[in-house]
Amino acid sequence: MSGRTPLVAANWKMHKVRAEARDYCTELRRRIEGVRGAEVVLFPGFTLLGTVAEALAGSSIAWGGQDLHPVPQGAHTGDVSGAQLADVGCSWVLCGHSERRQDHGESDELIGAKAAAARHSGIKPMVCIGETEEQRSSGRTFEVLDRQLAAALGAEPRPGAIAYEPVWAIGTGKTATPELAQEVHAFLRRRLEKALGSAGTALRLLYGGSVKPANAAELFAQPDIDGFLVGGAGLDPGQFFDIIGSSCA
Ligand code: PEP
Repeated sequence: MSGRTPLVAANWKMHKVRAEARDYCTELRRRIEGVRGAEVVLFPGFTLLGTVAEALAGSSIAWGGQDLHPVPQGAHTGDVSGAQLADVGCSWVLCGHSERRQDHGESDELIGAKAAAARHSGIKPMVCIGETEEQRSSGRTFEVLDRQLAAALGAEPRPGAIAYEPVWAIGTGKTATPELAQEVHAFLRRRLEKALGSAGTALRLLYGGSVKPANAAELFAQPDIDGFLVGGAGLDPGQFFDIIGSSCA
């Protein structure tokens, strides 16, 4: 037993409208009542945060934004600040999801600044890191992860959680094998402990990339996998609930 509370999160990306978000939250709340042993977080799109906040009020389920701007306020059309996320009850925010790195050219440095901004707004950043298929096949996986992790940790105070999401496994149906995921998580754990000491032992390391009810239990059985960041399967409350069920300590 690692002593770390499992953490399971659903990233809705650019899916759902308010009525769907409400129905999902009602259903997940109903199923999750009485379930103990895992922390659960939803990451809806910005326009859904108010609805999700209302629907989850008083429940054990937390919610967060999918991104934030690194400065607290100002002339940044289309962006959202940490204070605005906190105002709608977010306790978490995703930083550096590979789709943001890819679609918006986000650098490690910017992601570190976003993680620091989140902390200053009282929100826990879940920083996503992961190698592409090309980086893995050219033997650069650990070098890339080292760099991404250093940027995330360089932002003081430290992140709330790290999600290892191999880019080649996101939305592709190609899940990392439990052994491959554990090899990377063990590497990240050593790096975290070297950088942060006992705080590095306590920081949760999530796996993400085509996690489904059918593969969650064997991934969760790995000693350094503390939960999941789920995309596709997290859009359905039933499938997401089954993944949570496989992740209870
Ligand atoms: C994600 O986008 O964070 C993700 C892990 O997606 P999927 O589960 O669909 O691979």
